Amino acid sequence: MSQQELFTPISGQDNSYSVISFGCQMNNSDSEKISGILEQMGYNSTDDLEKAGVLIINTCCVRETAENKVYGLLGRLRKVKEKNPQLIIGVGGCMTQVEETARHIKKRYPYVNIVFGTGNLHQLPDMINKALVRKETLMEICRPESIPEGIPARRQGGLKAWIPVMYGCDNFCTYCIVPHVRGRERSRQPQDILKETRDLAEKGFKEITLLGQNVNSYGKDLGMKNGFGNLLTILNPIEGLLRIRFMTSHPRDFTDGLIEAIKNADKVCEHFHIPIQAGSNSILKKMNRGYDREYYLELINKIRQHIPAAAITSDIMVGFPGETERDFLDTMDILEKVRYDTAFTFVYNKRSGTPAERMADQIPDREKTRRIEILIKRQNQISLEINEGETGKAHQVLAEGMSKTNPEMVSGRTRTNKLVMFPGKEGNTGRTFAVKIKKGTLTYLEGEALPE
Ligand code: SF4
Repeated sequence: MSQQELFTPISGQDNSYSVISFGCQMNNSDSEKISGILEQMGYNSTDDLEKAGVLIINTCCVRETAENKVYGLLGRLRKVKEKNPQLIIGVGGCMTQVEETARHIKKRYPYVNIVFGTGNLHQLPDMINKALVRKETLMEICRPESIPEGIPARRQGGLKAWIPVMYGCDNFCTYCIVPHVRGRERSRQPQDILKETRDLAEKGFKEITLLGQNVNSYGKDLGMKNGFGNLLTILNPIEGLLRIRFMTSHPRDFTDGLIEAIKNADKVCEHFHIPIQAGSNSILKKMNRGYDREYYLELINKIRQHIPAAAITSDIMVGFPGETERDFLDTMDILEKVRYDTAFTFVYNKRSGTPAERMADQIPDREKTRRIEILIKRQNQISLEINEGETGKAHQVLAEGMSKTNPEMVSGRTRTNKLVMFPGKEGNTGRTFAVKIKKGTLTYLEGEALPE
């Protein structure tokens, strides 16, 4: 089917839309595509839910809290729908990939018009057109297998763009629902990624972030060796592009070949998000992470040896089933040994449908809270120390816009992904500056642009 056939404008309905997105960058990227599809159908974006003709909720099921937020929102939408019966409500994303959940949404919230899966985005125009004339909830959920190319995306801003390079995950960490809902790893063809990146650079985008649940195993399913390293190598020379970032990396797939490719690709930024999840070997094994702490520490050393300016960040979880005080102290020890620039810290929560849900020795909430508080406190101290240590150094900063809190300051990011504020004006957006850091706080740096 051609793009022309897929995206037929519709008439006779309020032509504004709103997309509410939950979860990770991959979901944000899908939401940009949903917006792109709706705009191609003739809809315009609005923030006013009461006025929207189409409202799409792009859900996340990684944590229970995200799911509860979706149910809360769906409950509140009953009144909105009563006031505006023409409103088309669509629910998509990871939650709807779980069949039981999709059925629950259909039954419990009958005013939802469309329930669609992560692999059914391209069917949205057809579903919306059908929903305009049918009363019952329409459901389209396929096992995500292929990758539809050419779906238009409505990008947020004109400077930085997300580019998914692969979908799904083969790792089956025992706490994680992603492989069950997003399917097996599927990589996009390098020429499609190259074309998308070139188009973005031509439109003036300066920075791309390559996305995947396990981005550095890119190309394995296409039979490539060092596929991700080679991808970075072919994207690096694109004219106009200044920075390349990527996430999320699995420590096990961060190979020597990849480190070598990063070293030789000057646009790849020195920031690596490498989740360790836990510092104890017995917990890592129960999580099925596929590495031990010794391997992880060696990897970090290797990266720092080859890329001395590297900022390292991580995801760290406490309270996994069976985690003893000794295991927890092993995680705390990793903090001291690695000294992460920042870390996303989590308390383990049961996810239905995962093996960890059925594991013995679930940790009581009170104990999880105690551990996470200790972890956050220490990580914050380390982050502050590292940021204070930036004082006096000069960083290349890409100006992203005016600060939201101080109209005289420009905000931007270093290649190491640190937020920097420095005096400047609106016209600075999109340009790079050498900024001398004068002060480091827990969450940002303050500095002054050096004369050009
Ligand atoms: S690597 Fe593990 S945590 Fe990450 S998406 Fe895959 S299964 Fe989930």
